[in-house]
Amino acid sequence: MINSHSSRLRVGAASLFTVILAGCGSSATTSSPAGSAGGAPQPAAERSISFGDGKVAQPYDDVLDAAFADLKTFWAANYEPTYGSPFTPVAAIYALYPERTDPVVGCSGPVAYSEVKGNAFYTSCGDIIVYDDSELVPDLTKRMGVASVAVVAAHEYGHAIQARAGVYSIPGIKTIDTEQQADCFAGAWTAHVARGEVPALAFGDADVKAGIDAMIDVADTPGTDSENDDSGHGSAFDRVGAFEEGFINGVARCKDFPTNPYPRVDLTFSPEDAATNGNLPFDDLLTGDTSISKSLDTFWVPTLEASQVAFTSPTLVAFTVGAVPACGEFTPEQMVNAATYCPDSNTIAYDDEFMHRLYDAYGDLSFGYPVAAAYSDAVQAAAGGTLTGEPRVLVNDCLVGAYLNSVLPSATPDVDGNQVANDPNQTIILSPGDLDEVVKTAVLFGDVASDTNNLGTAFEKIDSFRNGVIGGLDVCLQGNG
Ligand SMILES: [Zn+2]
Repeated sequence: MINSHSSRLRVGAASLFTVILAGCGSSATTSSPAGSAGGAPQPAAERSISFGDGKVAQPYDDVLDAAFADLKTFWAANYEPTYGSPFTPVAAIYALYPERTDPVVGCSGPVAYSEVKGNAFYTSCGDIIVYDDSELVPDLTKRMGVASVAVVAAHEYGHAIQARAGVYSIPGIKTIDTEQQADCFAGAWTAHVARGEVPALAFGDADVKAGIDAMIDVADTPGTDSENDDSGHGSAFDRVGAFEEGFINGVARCKDFPTNPYPRVDLTFSPEDAATNGNLPFDDLLTGDTSISKSLDTFWVPTLEASQVAFTSPTLVAFTVGAVPACGEFTPEQMVNAATYCPDSNTIAYDDEFMHRLYDAYGDLSFGYPVAAAYSDAVQAAAGGTLTGEPRVLVNDCLVGAYLNSVLPSATPDVDGNQVANDPNQTIILSPGDLDEVVKTAVLFGDVASDTNNLGTAFEKIDSFRNGVIGGLDVCLQGNG
C-alpha cells in the first residue's frame, strides 16, 4: 500500500519464471498454423510427446504425456462446438534438452535448446509446442508438483487453439488478452480433469491448488504495465482470476475473453515510486493515517451507518504464542497463526510473530488481509449475520475485496494530478503487488481439501475475494461471496 500523501510503494522480488515464460505465446503470430510441420519427426505412436534420444527419464514424463494426450481429446470435443470449424491437433510436442540430437523442427529449421531454455512455448512456425525438459519443467515439478506442469501444458495448448481460431489476427489484440485467454483455457481443462473425466489423470484439490501456484509463479513482477507491455502476462490476481473463470465457466466463456475479458486490475508505479522500493513500514500499519484500522473504519463506519447497523470499531490486540487471550469459543490452537475477531471484547486478536513473518514474506497487505477479514467478521456480527464455518469465512473474504475496492487508485487523479483512492476519504492507496499479496496469503490459509470446510480452499477464497474486489459490496451481500 502507499500513503496517499507521500506515495510510498513496494516492489516485489521478481519471480524466477516471470521473464522466462513471458515469451511463451509471442511467436504465434503467423496465420497458417496447421499442416506446416513438414519434415518434423513425428512422436512415437503410443506417445503424445516426442521425447527424443538421449532423454533422462523424469518423474513427470507420464503425467505430462497423458496431459497432452488428453488436451488433444479435450479440444477435439470442444473446438468445433466453440468455434464452428473442424479441429486439427497440434503437429508435434517436443521435450528439448541439451543432449537431444534428433532435431526439433520448426518451419525454419531445427530449434536449438538455447531457444527454449527456461521456457515452454507454442509457435505457429511448424505448429509445435516445445518445452525445456532440462531446467524449467524439472524445477516446476520439484517446487509445485506435476499438476503445475500439466497446467502449463494446457496454457500452451491454448495458444495453439488461438492460432487456429484466428485470435492473433483480431485487430488491436494485446499480449495480455491472449495470455488471459490461455490461462482461462487452462482453467477450463483443469476443471474437466478435476471432474474425474480423465482416467489417466486424477486431479484432486491439491492438484488444482498446484495450478493456482503455477499461475502465481509465472505472474508479472508487481509494477509491470501488463496492460500495455508486450511481454505482459498479468499479475497473480489477474492470472488466477482468468484461470478460475475458465475453471468455473468453461471454454465458451474463455472464447469471449478477447472481446469481453474478465475485469483486470492494472496497477503501475510512477518512476518516483519505483525508486523508493518498499512496503509501508509495519508500525505504520498500526497507527496514524496509514493504519489498517483507520482505513477499515473509513470504509465500514459510514457504510454501516447508512444501513442503520449499530457498530463499534474493533480494536487490534497483538499477542504472543505464550499468552493467547481468551476469545469466545476459539481455542488457542485456532488463534495461533491467525487474526481472529473476539466478539466479547470487540477486539481483533492477532498472533504478532506470525503476522510479522507474513509481512516479511509477502508484503504489507499480507498483514492487512487477515486483519481486514477479522474486521469483516465483526461487520457480520454487527449486521446480525447467522452464517458459521466456511460460508461465513468466504463472505469475509468477499468483504475484504469490497473494502479493498475502496482503496484502489481511482481512474481519475485529483485536481493536482495526484493519485486518489476510489473512496477519496481513504488515506492509503493500493500499490502494485498488493492484490497479489492477498492471493498468496489466501493460498497459505486455504483448506487443503474442498471437503474440509474450515476456511475454504485457496480456490474458493480467491474466487470470493476477487468477486468482492471486482463487484464490490453488493456482490458479497447477494450471497455470491
Ligand atoms: Zn502464454
